[in-house]
Amino acid sequence: MNLLNADLHCHSTVSDGTLDPEALAQRAKANGVELWALTDHDEISGQQRALTAASEAGLAYLTGCEISVTFAATTVHIIGLGFDADDEVLRQGLAATRGGRAERAMEMSDSLAQVGIKDAYEGALKYVGNPDLISRTHFARFLVEAGVCSDTHEVFRRFLTEGKPGFVPHRWAKLGDAVRWITQAGGIAVIAHPARYRFTPTEEYALITEFVAHGGRGIEVVTGSHSTAEQVKYADTALEFGLLASRGSDFHSPTESHTDLGSLPALPGKLTPVWQALQERVHRA
Ligand code: AMP
Ligand code: MN
Ligand code: MN
Ligand code: MN
Repeated sequence: MNLLNADLHCHSTVSDGTLDPEALAQRAKANGVELWALTDHDEISGQQRALTAASEAGLAYLTGCEISVTFAATTVHIIGLGFDADDEVLRQGLAATRGGRAERAMEMSDSLAQVGIKDAYEGALKYVGNPDLISRTHFARFLVEAGVCSDTHEVFRRFLTEGKPGFVPHRWAKLGDAVRWITQAGGIAVIAHPARYRFTPTEEYALITEFVAHGGRGIEVVTGSHSTAEQVKYADTALEFGLLASRGSDFHSPTESHTDLGSLPALPGKLTPVWQALQERVHRA
């Protein structure tokens, strides 16, 4: 089970990826993925397309999403897997979480204008596949196009992050709400890329204990945004807290992402994979 090539984290044009759900399904299959989930930010309108494309490609599929949450004044991402994509409570929760992105984007544009970068809102919109989901990634692509930065990684070092031009603080969903939306829809909530948050050990302990108290059950251990040392650390965290372990590339784009679909190391053998607990929820091809 741990050796299964599961890739349970990636993004399509429905959020901030550059490939559509069909192209992702084909790429996952070609790269040897055996169980796939599309996890667009705050949005599940790509789920039916992903499921159909997975089934046509002969690829087992789990429903997925990545919910933006504010915890301890920090943005944390919670992955939902294996939920009922028609669930009304989940759908409304995600719609509420998306709300405010357009206004935030206009404020980001104003902030960039103050350092001489004009018309960033219009520029970012050209990259948006889903008008409900304008994100920092779309601004990053515009800043590369405009020649301000040479790639999107440079953008996130110089702009759009706390203390830098273009950053606008935003209040996302509450941790407990996001976990409950996923869980009551029959899914499992998973903390995404835990090493990416700038938490003190005390804050991280609070995140995990509160997450578990709300019904959260999983944590990403092997992800495109973890180093080998971070994988080892969060494998221990999964064991310590009795959490199911997940694996996902967080693939966004062939030209921007360092980790391709299906190309991650295996989940360490001592861990219980989240897909073991979701066997009944898998759409088999
Ligand atoms: P948003 O949800 O609008 O705040 O945008 C967040 C997205 O920006 C993430 O999902 C990533 O795709 C991207 N992003 C954020 N920080 C970085 C970073 N340091 N390097 C590369 N991409 C980033
Ligand atoms: Mn993203
Ligand atoms: Mn994320
Ligand atoms: Mn992601």
